[in-house]
Amino acid sequence: MAGAGRRRVVFFPFPFLGHFNPVLRLAGALHARGLAVTVFHTEQRVPDPADYPADYRFVSLPVEVPPELAASEDIARMGMAMNDAAEAPFRDRLAALLAEEEAEDGGVLCVITDVVWYSAQAVARELGVPALGIMTASAAIFRVYMAYQTLIDKAYLPVQDARKDDPVEELPPYLVKDLLRHDTSKLEDFAELLRHTVAGARQSSGLVINTLGAIEAANLERIREDLSVPVFAVAPLHKLAPSAKSSSLGETQADRGCLGWLDTQEPGSVLYVSFGSLAAMDPHEFVELAWGLALSKRPFVWVVRPKLIRGFESGELPDGLGEELRGRGVIVSWAPQEEVLAHPAVGAFFTHSGWNSTVEAIAEGVPMICHPLHGDQYGNARYVADVWRVGVEVDGSHRLERGSIKAAIGRMMESGEGREIGERMKALKMAAEDGIGERGSSHTHLSDLVALIKSF
Ligand code: UDP
Repeated sequence: MAGAGRRRVVFFPFPFLGHFNPVLRLAGALHARGLAVTVFHTEQRVPDPADYPADYRFVSLPVEVPPELAASEDIARMGMAMNDAAEAPFRDRLAALLAEEEAEDGGVLCVITDVVWYSAQAVARELGVPALGIMTASAAIFRVYMAYQTLIDKAYLPVQDARKDDPVEELPPYLVKDLLRHDTSKLEDFAELLRHTVAGARQSSGLVINTLGAIEAANLERIREDLSVPVFAVAPLHKLAPSAKSSSLGETQADRGCLGWLDTQEPGSVLYVSFGSLAAMDPHEFVELAWGLALSKRPFVWVVRPKLIRGFESGELPDGLGEELRGRGVIVSWAPQEEVLAHPAVGAFFTHSGWNSTVEAIAEGVPMICHPLHGDQYGNARYVADVWRVGVEVDGSHRLERGSIKAAIGRMMESGEGREIGERMKALKMAAEDGIGERGSSHTHLSDLVALIKSF
């Protein structure tokens, strides 16, 4: 039987795409290093086995939350409800796997869950299986998780208008306005979700973080000291794992036609515009963005997902603007992002500063124009613009406006400052490449992780 004789790791990704992909990539990297893989998944995101090696096993867990909660944007209560609902099915499925695998192929070595699945980690420990967590966002954000109650106690949170530009002394380089929060959840609920998550990580056998030493060494060290568990920084995971088939990565099949179009463009000339898998904007902002692109006169590839524009699913552009833009660029509903970023024609990335997008841009050396929209994105953009200095932020409030978009594109793609940013980004890309080389830090951390797992 395929996979027999290899020892098995159970993965349990959280069903949001930005969480799901890094966990499946980690699975791919560990599979390539001799471990067998079982993926536990919820019905909210069902992987297609055809996209993965034939010896992967997939186990579906019914994780049901009340429909009104599922339909709400209350991330905190939903996260906790999902943990409650996952506990019993996770126990059943893991116990069944343990009974079956004892006889079959040397058994389950450990489980690796998204850190946010704290209930599953507790269940694994209860059943005598070592549990590790994976943080799919940055180490800096994990430090925010750890400090969350302090940030509330010191009145940094909730963010007050009068203090929004103040530095957060405990967590430089953040300003108050950069702090992680979800306006659709109550602060105390979100704090509770993070408290459970950090408590789970403290009791874990190790924490894997989707980051790299070249950009977050100090944050990683602080987490290691504070948690007293092994911490592994293994990004960029898509460079350390065999490439997954594209359909396994997206909401829909990626439109590969844009790659052929990129082949016809000058090196470094094209702006890639994407806001990830979840973000939504008002129709007004969408039109401002379209005008910003039109005024910049740059060729572009723009991802307009059906749900990007609130209440305006057709995504049609008004008054000839669509025609003008279509002549200059390509609009797709889902792009093969890693390949687009790796294309020599792409010179800059207009991004919502999602963490996966940020890491992918660094891995390909593409400087960023940041327009964070929520959650951890403000903090990611702060690091990009002010710490690594490999991008700029769109000026102004959090609302998009054509003049500031045009100015940011000009600053990034046509100024001396933009060229310096580009040089720094090239150096950072090289550091990321060193990290995945034989003696590099991400490569070493991955080997250390495999050794730890095999020692269980
Ligand atoms: N992505 C993609 N094609 C697109 C848009 C996004 O493949 O057209 C991928 C992107 O490569 C990244 C993920 O979707 O891996 C988005 O994750 P991120 O953390 O950047 O943002 P989120 O979707 O979580 O807001």
